[in-house]
Amino acid sequence: MLVSLGIESTAHTFGVGIVDEEGNILADQRVSLRPKEGGILPREAAALFSEKGAEVLANALREAGLSVEDVGVISFAIGPGLGPSLRTGAILARYLAVRFKKPLVGVNHGVAHIEIGKLLTKTRDPLVVYISGANTQIIAFENGRYRVFGETLDMGIGNFLDSFARELGFPFPGAPKVEELAKKGKELIDLPYTVKGSDLAFSGLLTAAIKALERYPAEDVCFSVQEIAFAMLTEVTERALAHTEKEEVLLVGGVAANKRLQGMIKIMASERGARTYVVPMKYASDNGVMIAWTGLLAYKAGIRTDPSEPVNPKFRVDQAEVPWIEG
Ligand code: AMP
Ligand code: MG
Repeated sequence: MLVSLGIESTAHTFGVGIVDEEGNILADQRVSLRPKEGGILPREAAALFSEKGAEVLANALREAGLSVEDVGVISFAIGPGLGPSLRTGAILARYLAVRFKKPLVGVNHGVAHIEIGKLLTKTRDPLVVYISGANTQIIAFENGRYRVFGETLDMGIGNFLDSFARELGFPFPGAPKVEELAKKGKELIDLPYTVKGSDLAFSGLLTAAIKALERYPAEDVCFSVQEIAFAMLTEVTERALAHTEKEEVLLVGGVAANKRLQGMIKIMASERGARTYVVPMKYASDNGVMIAWTGLLAYKAGIRTDPSEPVNPKFRVDQAEVPWIEG
């Protein structure tokens, strides 16, 4: 059976995953940089990845009980992401492909979040709400590509929640703490709501929310931050659902863990006759399995990447070719 080995290294996680053609997950190994404060330092991440990359690879092969010779396709995340992180994974992938004479497939990281979500929730043609630390996009397949029907104009919703949480003294990733505190909130504070057409923005809300902490209980500010940010996201998702008329809504990315957000999207979608699915949390964050699976789909559809092709830190999901999807 055809087996794909996938390497993820776009941001804070270096992952190696191995899957087979039937979608069985044979290995999932990861190492992550956990910054104590502030964001990810690209060079620190790349240094960690170079140091641990070979070990993560060896562990994945051991977990699957395979050697590189048994692998049919070498897949790697070619973008988008941080240049230094991307290059460490690409170097390892190119080396394996050339040394062991294996086909190489460069995968779009956002497309991989979508494809692993589809595999694990058995959805076929969903409207995807891609909500992670750095990303916030509403995506659906239309006319041969994944199209973006709405997105953040400034920061990703996860980074927004984590930045707000940092003001409350919660280290990265602080968003789950905001969710906890929000459960005790009672009063909805008036904070900026920014939806521009089909897009949304968080920086005005962040500034106002930090300021509100001087005057209101933290629980109420957390509650209001979630209510307003998630209402913005639900509004742009509803607009995209009305336009695309999809029957499935799929939440992917780490922020999909949020129960309040899941609830809001579920209610909106069901009112439009659509069902809501959430990627299993184990595969919501960055991992090598999603790269392996998407690389396998791409390989079977004829995609090959030359080892000389550079990584693309700005590779958008709507620039990726997805010939394995019909329609
Ligand atoms: P990712 O970038 O996909 O790895 O996802 C990580 C992001 O998900 C971080 O910004 C986390 O703070 C965020 N996150 C994790 N759990 C929750 C939660 N319960 N509510 C909101 N955001 C969350
Ligand atoms: Mg990601």
